[in-house]
Amino acid sequence: MLSNKTALITGSTSGIGLAIATALARKGANIILNGLGDKALIDKIILDLRTLSLGQVHYNPADMADPKQIHDMMSEAEKKFGGIDILVNNVGIQFVSPLEDFPDDKWDTIIALNLSAAFHTTKAVFSFMKQRKWGRIINIASAHGLVASPLKAAYVASKHGLVGLTKVAALEGGGFGVTCNAICPGYVWTPLVENQIESTAKARGLSKEQVINDVLLAEHATKTFVTVEQIEALVLFLCSPETANITGAALSIDGGWTAH
Ligand code: NAD
Repeated sequence: MLSNKTALITGSTSGIGLAIATALARKGANIILNGLGDKALIDKIILDLRTLSLGQVHYNPADMADPKQIHDMMSEAEKKFGGIDILVNNVGIQFVSPLEDFPDDKWDTIIALNLSAAFHTTKAVFSFMKQRKWGRIINIASAHGLVASPLKAAYVASKHGLVGLTKVAALEGGGFGVTCNAICPGYVWTPLVENQIESTAKARGLSKEQVINDVLLAEHATKTFVTVEQIEALVLFLCSPETANITGAALSIDGGWTAH
């Protein structure tokens, strides 16, 4: 059980983040949700989580590309819950383009959201976790934190950076009961991947079926998508006492992709 723990999950109004928030809520943690989206949909997510949660559920709409809004969210969390015990840096976006056409503003936004946001949140929680002698920082990186694919310059660079940040936080937190690990999923069926199927089909002149079978699942030895349930199970495991010595790791959950 994670009662008396507070978890912040960035980008948790959809996909992997929402699944992780739901799993942690079921285990009794107070939850700080974050993410964009339609207000009615977010209200429904909050209501659903409050129904199943044993702890409190709070939502903060910070735009994770904006350091000022991140700092305000972290201060609010500290005032409301005393501090964050479990930080899941999940927010992330994708953009697919040949390198020579890659828009500068997309590069900047992807680096800000997929990498810099995790720096700002980690910096904000680190002293508190060290003082408490317990903390879990879980960075949702990607197989693209370990290997590259064409057309994904900013995403691959940001996720490699996130794996690097993970290692530094693990080394600095190691003597204080604070672990930091990266989860590196292969393709997971979420809105992020659904959008990518469309853009990759366009960029490579393929049908959607060809993108799914010949591009995405071509890399998975299992020939199946990773599920959000498999990722939330790994997050719960990383929050358990048995994992005190798992830190600084890039944990693959990618159907064998990076075994190639
Ligand atoms: P998703 O698109 O379903 O969810 C992304 C979440 O981020 C949403 O809640 C969205 O509102 C939020 N978000 C987007 N921009 C934001 C902003 N500016 N400020 C605050 N929140 C913002 O995506 P997903 O597939 O669940 O991906 C979650 C994480 O998992 C990402 O970091 C992604 O890179 C990583 N990942 C996904 C896959 C996959 O195949 N889906 C594979 C490997 C890694």
